[in-house]
Amino acid sequence: MTRIDRLARRIARAGRIAVLTGAGVSVESGIPPFRGRGGLWERFDPMEYATIGAFLNDPGKVWRVMLGELNGLIMRARPGAGHIGLAKLEALGKSVTVITQNVDGLHQQAGSSAVIELHGTFARLRCLNCGAVSATAATDLGILPPRCPCGGILRPACIFFGEEILPSDLLRSRQASAGCDLMLVIGTSANVHPAALMPLVAKQAGAAVVEINPEPTALTGRISDELLCGKAGEVMPPLLAAVQATLTDFGRGA
Ligand code: NAD
Repeated sequence: MTRIDRLARRIARAGRIAVLTGAGVSVESGIPPFRGRGGLWERFDPMEYATIGAFLNDPGKVWRVMLGELNGLIMRARPGAGHIGLAKLEALGKSVTVITQNVDGLHQQAGSSAVIELHGTFARLRCLNCGAVSATAATDLGILPPRCPCGGILRPACIFFGEEILPSDLLRSRQASAGCDLMLVIGTSANVHPAALMPLVAKQAGAAVVEINPEPTALTGRISDELLCGKAGEVMPPLLAAVQATLTDFGRGA
């Protein structure tokens, strides 16, 4: 039996599945990750552009240099095989909760219904002055930084480094991790906390933890039970086909 077939059986048998995703699951949709070759950090110093201190110090600069580009990438991106595979698992009747570190909304676009956006979303903007929330797609980003009708500067509704994750999102993520039988970890280097702790929570609660990533991560050999080495777009389609076949076999009583 291949490793894909073994994982397919685990998925087919699992009652509740939690999935932790990171920037890697969206790479094939055209959004580069932060770390590694081709990552955004090769061009942007995170200390200069990704901390809340840097943003508040000079919102115009952070918008012009990094956020404007990220918004363009997100607007053009479409769900890839990783996002679509997870949505299909749900369509096959599996209980799937996606905990994502991504801010691109691609899991929801693919059709996943239970998505926790641990690091917030780029789909909405919030006024630093009056707190009004607006849709990014409906906002004029021709002049940066964008402004609210009240004149205040708009920030994305994502979590900058140095900001706290919403306690309700953290609680729901912990609950999904502690309550699953199987956790899939797709496209994350597992360097950003507390997201990277979710596989540990799952493991301590007795779940199997399986990674899908082209290279080993901070979890490999320590927390995860297995690494399926490959891109999400390479691993997910055959995995889905194997899950479908396994569920059909189970249905026939095989
Ligand atoms: P990361 O950049 O630290 O790690 C990305 C991981 O994905 C690496 O381990 C890499 O080997 C792997 N990877 C690369 N290509 C892949 C592919 N095709 N399929 C599967 N895996 C692939 O990203 P992270 O762990 O998510 O943490 C960094 C932070 O980046 C997060 O806080 C997240 O909010 C933010 N981020 C989000 C986006 C997005 O929304 N799409 C993009 C960039 C960064």
